[in-house]
Amino acid sequence: MQLTPKLTNIDTSIFTVMSALAHKHKAINLSQGFPNFKSDQKLIDAVSKAMHSGYNQYAPMAGNLDLRNAISKKFELLYQTTYHPETEITVTAGATQAIFTIISTFVKPDDEVIIFKPAYDCYEPAIKLNGGKPISVALIAPKYSIDWNHVEQCITSKTKMIIINTPHNPSGTVMHKTDMLKLQELTDGTDIIILSDEVYEHIIFDENLHQSACLFSNLKARSFITASFGKTFHNTGWKVGYCCAPKALMEAFRAVHQFNVFSVHHPTQKGLADYLDEPNHYLELSQFYQKKRDTFLNLIKDSRFSYTPSKGTYFQVLNFSDITSKNDIDFATYLTTEKGIASIPMSVFNDHNRDDKMLRFCFAKTDETLKDAADILNKI
Ligand code: PMP
Ligand code: GLN
Repeated sequence: MQLTPKLTNIDTSIFTVMSALAHKHKAINLSQGFPNFKSDQKLIDAVSKAMHSGYNQYAPMAGNLDLRNAISKKFELLYQTTYHPETEITVTAGATQAIFTIISTFVKPDDEVIIFKPAYDCYEPAIKLNGGKPISVALIAPKYSIDWNHVEQCITSKTKMIIINTPHNPSGTVMHKTDMLKLQELTDGTDIIILSDEVYEHIIFDENLHQSACLFSNLKARSFITASFGKTFHNTGWKVGYCCAPKALMEAFRAVHQFNVFSVHHPTQKGLADYLDEPNHYLELSQFYQKKRDTFLNLIKDSRFSYTPSKGTYFQVLNFSDITSKNDIDFATYLTTEKGIASIPMSVFNDHNRDDKMLRFCFAKTDETLKDAADILNKI
């Protein structure tokens, strides 16, 4: 039998590889991004209550309406902008499904999609699977800032979409208002769709404000915003997220979504809707993670790694060029198998595996785990 799969030459995701290696060698796992502490018992009780109260059949295709109303209210509170719950918000099986469905809805063979690299790993395969062509703009370490002149040169009549991600995984940098204004200027008068991956919107540090695409009216008009409750409420395994877009864009999305997943785990949606009634549940998140970032960085301040403090997400990148000339994959493997600490080598997110001697560490961990991790890093 001759198999001709559409997606070829794809390695197993680095998150799966490093987590498995960490497990095998009993290493502290700061690789794949997930918390090692429990989420709020109130949220677990709310989901459990929803199950006991009969929210056990298919949710409406676009999502439980209480949850869509709660999401709409959140946009009004945070960004003073409206997404209509009936027509402009859809609940998805995590941000990954939203991203895949958005790309599948619009990207046709030979369409070009501009992505910034290092890029989260699910964008490129989804583009290729739909026959599209990823066009990379490199973000250069350690600043990882966007060269807008380069972006301008990459825009052609074939550009269908630009994917942005702020706060940015894996670098822990954020886009500023000037970046968003530049993006708005470059896309004005075009048919380019923006996919704005904002799964870390509630995890942003120091004086930075989250620059959501919905804050800029001409950007909002062409944007999908994707979000993940897994990131916000410490339940990455629940895989519930959502996306928002103006009505016409959302109608096109739902045409695909209804045959892609149709609808998402219902009791979780109802529980999340009730939990979102209290805005502090997400408003306190930045402070919570900023403290974890500071704890981690303070613990490793005398180590031989160098760094710029993360400005958002729950990832910190550390530069190891003063320690070894090994490449980042070999060094990450060595740290996991020989020293008992797992991280993610950044080169896997770059074109041609460009190696900037950077490793990504997830600090969404208990203080005890961060202390144990720092004890190891300080001895390297
Ligand atoms: N985008 C980014 C930047 C991410 O880091 C992640 C992973 N958490 C996702 C999307 C996917 O989110 P989810 O787990 O909700 O599918
Ligand atoms: N978003 C998580 C990370 O960046 C991983 C998600 C996954 O394993 N697919 O580590």
